[in-house]
Amino acid sequence: MINASTTSLQQRLRIGLIANRAHQDAQDSALVQLFQRASKSIQALDIEWVVVGRTLDAIHGHGLAEQCKVHVRFPYGRDGGLMKLVAHVVNSDPQNSVDAVIYLIDPVDHSSIFPEALALKRQCVIHRKPFLSTLAAACEWLELEALAQGSLTHLSDLPGLNLAQESIALIAHDALKQNMLQIAEQHFSLLDQFAHRYATGTTGSLLNQLAQRMKGEEAGRHWVQPFLSGPMGGDAQIAELVLEKKVRRIVFLEDPHVARQHEADIQLLERAARTVTDFALVLSDGAGSARWLGLLSERLRLTGV
Ligand code: PGA
Repeated sequence: MINASTTSLQQRLRIGLIANRAHQDAQDSALVQLFQRASKSIQALDIEWVVVGRTLDAIHGHGLAEQCKVHVRFPYGRDGGLMKLVAHVVNSDPQNSVDAVIYLIDPVDHSSIFPEALALKRQCVIHRKPFLSTLAAACEWLELEALAQGSLTHLSDLPGLNLAQESIALIAHDALKQNMLQIAEQHFSLLDQFAHRYATGTTGSLLNQLAQRMKGEEAGRHWVQPFLSGPMGGDAQIAELVLEKKVRRIVFLEDPHVARQHEADIQLLERAARTVTDFALVLSDGAGSARWLGLLSERLRLTGV
């Protein structure tokens, strides 16, 4: 049984979906892989999709229409499809809103840095809706939500998960550092299982103090390995580990309400994750990250791996 704190999604999920060109057309594109790898979760969740123009054309072109129950088709990007999706993220009318967005981003596609693309991410963070910008993030999120609904009947089919061979990066902007500490305390035993934990400078030193409190001397001085502070280049140092596939998960609690002097570095780190789309995943808001880590613990408890 999934515990109550992890089961807030009661209604049928409605998910916004868009993929950049490079992730649409090939037989092994990220879009096709999404419907292949996550097919059982998608079926179990009985999702309603809100799909932007050409992405839906590609879904039909690949013969995937059966698996993609379309609630609304939005216009092509050039006709405002992505802008409409932003409006649906912020809308409180259930008929005209989405619960999450899957945006399979190609970091070198110009449209991925258009204002509407940046606003889409920012409004997802503000409205605490998952913004899933890599194939790995989308597949795992769907899997965990299907698990949370208790509708996943294929636990044994889930890919193995061995946190002892994985690393995680933990970063929080100043206004969210307390939130990061709460999440880390709540999910300490899960985070403790990772082979390595990395952080930007200030976040890292706070997390190391927490680890000393939780685990005493056993935590060592570097439970989290701190890099430079974010504004001094720590995000770029972590991005390199992501590109080398040494860090798969990034919890980056972003403050969407302040202008950031090192915005470029923040974007760089996210773009690194999107460069290895089938490998890395970024979680950007506190509530979503806590839920994700809780469900990950549940998945490990149920499957043993
Ligand atoms: P910090 O960096 O942990 O050193 O504060 C985080 C950031 O601002 O990117």
